[in-house]
Amino acid sequence: MTSINWDLECSHCSATSSADGLHSVCTDCGDPWLVRYHDAPSPAKKSELANRPWDMWRYREWLPLAPNESPVTLGEGMTPLLRVPSVERLTGVRTVWVKDEGQNPCGSFKARGLSAAVTRAVGAGVKAFTIPTAGNAGVALAAYGTRAGVPVTVFAPRTTPDTILRQIRLFGAELILLDGHIGDCGNAARQLASEIGAWDVSTLREPYRIEGKKTLGLELAEQMGWQLPDCILYPTGGGTGLIGMWKVFRELRDAGWVSGKLPRLFSVQADGCAPVVKAFAQGNDATEPWPDPQTVASGLRVPSPLGGRIILEAVRETNGDAVAVSDEDLSAASVSVAASEGIDVCPEGGATVVALQKLVDQGRIAPAESVVLFNTGAGWLYR
Ligand SMILES: *Cc1c(COP(=O)(O)O)cnc(C)c1O
Repeated sequence: MTSINWDLECSHCSATSSADGLHSVCTDCGDPWLVRYHDAPSPAKKSELANRPWDMWRYREWLPLAPNESPVTLGEGMTPLLRVPSVERLTGVRTVWVKDEGQNPCGSFKARGLSAAVTRAVGAGVKAFTIPTAGNAGVALAAYGTRAGVPVTVFAPRTTPDTILRQIRLFGAELILLDGHIGDCGNAARQLASEIGAWDVSTLREPYRIEGKKTLGLELAEQMGWQLPDCILYPTGGGTGLIGMWKVFRELRDAGWVSGKLPRLFSVQADGCAPVVKAFAQGNDATEPWPDPQTVASGLRVPSPLGGRIILEAVRETNGDAVAVSDEDLSAASVSVAASEGIDVCPEGGATVVALQKLVDQGRIAPAESVVLFNTGAGWLYR
């Protein structure tokens, strides 16, 4: 038995639970659980980071890991934060960085969440995994499941880019292609989970992918000398990274590791699947399912994010915004940043460049604000 120093708290109602064993969603209301740690590391611990291994588990005190446990890892995280002068010239914003998550194991930031989720599930004795995916989460689970010696079944839409599908097979997962979108794949994964007892690691259907994605925020803070940027643009599907960063920025502030205003969080979606943008514009608390979702940015093809309510709260509370961009524009931007900066930007990452331009044109982001764009995956996965 490992000694764990956190509990689970519902993101919506007042339910709480011990974190022992396996947990899916809140048993009272069906919304996602969030991890609450019993105590936070003191700011004096910052100096210890310098001697830690160069992966996301260097932040282990902020993560769901017992003192005597080793994570299931492929060296995820610690991706570069790169200035992008061509985007600064294009938009007139003085300081723009790209956090290049395409340099993670498996080519996307899904590695972070799946490293954490697989670590916890294996610790709880899981013998098989399943996941519905728009693509990259399936690649990451295939890799981390294999790393842990646990078989994986992935459900993906037939429209998923071919390179991504080949990667899923390469890492040894069973791949089942379905007509329809990630929501349809989710139903199939849950059915398999109930039939064979596989553990379903869908976005926010278990509490630990969020914790892994929190390291996006921890890394940004460390890379920027514990000064957070003014604005963060995040291409949003299920919203794990945006929610994770919002969670950890508040944890860091409460523990005295950062001070001042928290970054404004901007949710970026595609015109053909923009449930967060629509709900935000209408002032709603929750998203409504987007009918017939279509976009080449497969990571954004999530018509009904389970964490929609939390995404909207994060964007509103930080004085952010939610914007949608066209497939034509996001594809062009991904190619033009690659050609001008040498950074292999995926379509979802391209969407943040287009969104920044729009937000500046609308006066929502000022040229003097510092901006971080998330390139969530490698462009080669889509080509
Ligand atoms: C999954 C994914 C997204 C969306 O991430 P969420 O955390 O689900 O919002 C964006 N871009 C890429 C490349 C992805 O794989």
